Amino acid sequence: MGSESKAAPMHALLVSFPGQGHINPLLRLGKRLASKGLFVTFTTPENAGKDLRNANRIVTDKAIPVGDGFLRFEFFEDGWDKDDPRRKNLREYLVQLELVGKQVISQMIHKYNDSREPVSCIINNAFVPWVCDVDSEFGLPSAVLWVQSCAVFSAYYHYFHKLVHFPSDLDPHIDVHLPSLPVLKYDEIPSFLHFDSPYRFIGELILGQFKNFNVPFCVLMDTFVELEKDYINYMSKFCVIRSVGPLFKNPKPADSGTVSDDIRGDLVVKADDCIEWLNSKPSGSVVYVSFGSIVYLPQEQVDEIAYGLLDSQVSFLWVRKPPEKTQSLQSHVLPDGFLEKTKDRGKVVQWSPQEEVLAHPSVSCFVTHCGWNSSVEALTCGVPVLTFPAWGDQVTNAKFLVDVFGVGLRLGNAQDQNNVITRDEMNKCLEQASVGPRALELKRNALKWKAAAEAAVANGGSSSRNLDAFIEDMKKMASCVSVDSKIITRSEEVFDDNVGGPRGWFSRISL
Ligand code: UDP
Repeated sequence: MGSESKAAPMHALLVSFPGQGHINPLLRLGKRLASKGLFVTFTTPENAGKDLRNANRIVTDKAIPVGDGFLRFEFFEDGWDKDDPRRKNLREYLVQLELVGKQVISQMIHKYNDSREPVSCIINNAFVPWVCDVDSEFGLPSAVLWVQSCAVFSAYYHYFHKLVHFPSDLDPHIDVHLPSLPVLKYDEIPSFLHFDSPYRFIGELILGQFKNFNVPFCVLMDTFVELEKDYINYMSKFCVIRSVGPLFKNPKPADSGTVSDDIRGDLVVKADDCIEWLNSKPSGSVVYVSFGSIVYLPQEQVDEIAYGLLDSQVSFLWVRKPPEKTQSLQSHVLPDGFLEKTKDRGKVVQWSPQEEVLAHPSVSCFVTHCGWNSSVEALTCGVPVLTFPAWGDQVTNAKFLVDVFGVGLRLGNAQDQNNVITRDEMNKCLEQASVGPRALELKRNALKWKAAAEAAVANGGSSSRNLDAFIEDMKKMASCVSVDSKIITRSEEVFDDNVGGPRGWFSRISL
């Protein structure tokens, strides 16, 4: 197969863990690659596939034209019924997913190879590091999409390789000094790295990816050089990093690779139509409140948010996602008369088209849990934030949003169940973010990042060049896969024009 062959376009197989924060960035990457002429197959377990089909205009097995290429969905059974109680246990589910997934992805590759749509490259995201093992078996080039910030990548990397001191049971409150990053206080590192975190096993899962990191030829990141330059440069000493974000941001229509907005990765429910309502509100007047797809707040905290919004008199759009059915969590209730009293200035929805909401001129600020997707979306839309992180990288993202990127005010920490943010604290923060010199400063910084993000994804921008370079690398590598599916080239040759980092991450499959 030659790289010039017009008959068989490059075929990228994207394998996603079935979570909202995982599917969104990988699907966005898939749309980008398709828009540049690739044939992309996006796969994840059928359990999420069902939700994706219900909430979006997605048809399985049909190739959807996107820009110069195509995107197709193919979902696979993970071997458990949708309501299987074992789904509640992530640890157990991941074992099952690996067991079934390895076989299914192998079969998929065989199927495509036989049907003259040979897979040229596989890209996976977090929690499914075993995908790299399948790639190796077939001798296929593989890449990983890291769906958190580069700063957080650095924290996990340094922790995994024991390169710096992290809090431990002996020294629980030490600062963490990561090269090229600001000093992180003990409670600003990704919380899954704490020895006593109740979600420690998730930290271990993420660290598990670093065991396999000699297989992928490149780590793609949903960030951009201008935002995390020092950390990307530093971490590029250790692996090939290509920052290609913000992936949700479409290049300007003038760009030939413009991406369709019709294909969305919503899992929860179909996004409610909020745009018409936002259109009816004055510019910069609406507070957007959303805590992503997983965070579940105690009822007491929901009450305080409700009364905060009630007392503040601001207009608001509040996403109250219904709790996961499999998690047996109680639905929250709103204070008596809340909807009636706020009907002229408030809207409560189950799920919003967040990218469009944040880009809407009526939105003034975003009360967020600081998931990386939400953080990048806010930065890229030029929207100041009030930070309310719960766990994992959210606490680190909150630190960066406030202290480094200068776009946020600290509202509190949703993880700390004993420290409910009161309605008064919320009002104080809302006011600071809305009027006065601090509000102006936050907005100025936010607009600076918006412009930088737009420049990064525009034709010739840093992320656009990195994506093109990634595709070129992929083409060169795919053209080096011999008939018996063994890589027969040297990494040095492949990465001659690599702008993202050093050579040699490829040693396992070079001669
Ligand atoms: N999201 C959305 N509508 C909502 C809330 C969230 O479309 O009402 C999207 C949001 O745009 C983001 C993703 O869901 O892309 C959430 O990812 P994030 O990393 O912020 O948080 P997680 O859900 O993984 O905690």
